[in-house]
Amino acid sequence: MSTIAFLNIPMHGHVNPTLPVVAELVRRGHSVTYHTSPAFAKEIEATGATVCPYPGGDRPLPDPPLPITLLEGLAGAAAGLLPAVLSDLRRVRPDLIVHGAACPWGAVAARELGVPAASTFTTFAFNGDAPSPTRASWELLAAAATRPRVARRYLRSRWGLHRHYDTRGLPLLDLANVRQPLNLVFTSPAFQPGVDAFGPSYRFVGPSLGARPADPSFPAGLRAPVLYASLGTVFDAGPHLLRAFATALAPLGGTVIISTGHTDPAALGPLPVNVLARHSVPQPEVLARAALFVTHGGMNSVNEALYAGVPMLVVPQGADQPLVARRVVELGAGLSIHTRDVAPGPVNALARRLLDEPRFRAAAATLRVAQREAGGYLRAADELERYLRRVGRPALADAPRER
Ligand code: UDP
Repeated sequence: MSTIAFLNIPMHGHVNPTLPVVAELVRRGHSVTYHTSPAFAKEIEATGATVCPYPGGDRPLPDPPLPITLLEGLAGAAAGLLPAVLSDLRRVRPDLIVHGAACPWGAVAARELGVPAASTFTTFAFNGDAPSPTRASWELLAAAATRPRVARRYLRSRWGLHRHYDTRGLPLLDLANVRQPLNLVFTSPAFQPGVDAFGPSYRFVGPSLGARPADPSFPAGLRAPVLYASLGTVFDAGPHLLRAFATALAPLGGTVIISTGHTDPAALGPLPVNVLARHSVPQPEVLARAALFVTHGGMNSVNEALYAGVPMLVVPQGADQPLVARRVVELGAGLSIHTRDVAPGPVNALARRLLDEPRFRAAAATLRVAQREAGGYLRAADELERYLRRVGRPALADAPRER
């Protein structure tokens, strides 16, 4: 049995899909450590892995994470965390390091310790069709010019990494896209744009959805058709948008469920009787019964919806969500609307089309099969075990390609 160390940035979207993989590796008898912010200790302990919290408490990444501030945040975090992370890893002595694609200190630590590494992608794998947020671009250059202090801090941290550590293989700029000889991507080949351009080091293992603890507080008596709206856990859309969804969907339900995230459900004001607004709902459970999902297009939400075969109305709020929305529309599994166009009338009209035109449900059903066939966390665990058996030989796989 092997010792495997997972390292990640402290964001739910990045950590969550790795947890079922960790639980499965533990179940197969491996010893697993997880190095991330202490905020995730409880979820990680539940997998049976050992939590190795980063020093300095819970340091949030810059908000909003613009590419330039993200870049500076990642380089700064790498420089700050590496001494403690390396000392933890020297004690753990892992046979394999598995790090998030946006966790450059995982890659540097693997190099320093001479340990093989794999990378995990919780959004798309990046290429021309799905560009990395930190790729070299004119936009990044322009952002650096308007924020010279941030750019200087980035250069200082990046130079510090180069001076103190073995940074071979670490991209100079694209620190959210750190690749390894094995890259696990948590979506299906069918959903990944431009999938044929990726070499064999990329394995599209599909959504990694483990069992979640049941939520006994959630009402059981939902009436069909169940219509569900959520803008995720990060973006704070405010009550106006959520109220528009409630008003638009109420005449089409069944039960309408609104997950309000940071917004107080009471702030939505009085709602039609068939609308249930909660801070948080058991999303996979709700999606298993839903006929329609109004979503911000967070990759986890969309993966979960496609896994359940539910058509979507995507209202992207930022980050990679416009790309995800475009892909959903391209594959026929939904429609998209700009936030500025959200009002009860247009949302109602689009939702009606999604419910009435069978082609949306048919496309979502096709993707449901693809998402399930990709293998999920079991396949991810198989890939890591296969990689572990292979390491030690020369020529591991294709080297990560610069594009
Ligand atoms: N989620 C949930 N209940 C809710 C809202 C969200 O369980 O009421 C979960 C959802 O299942 C998904 C995650 O939170 O796994 C949201 O991740 P995503 O990448 O879609 O969006 P983010 O919150 O990171 O913007």
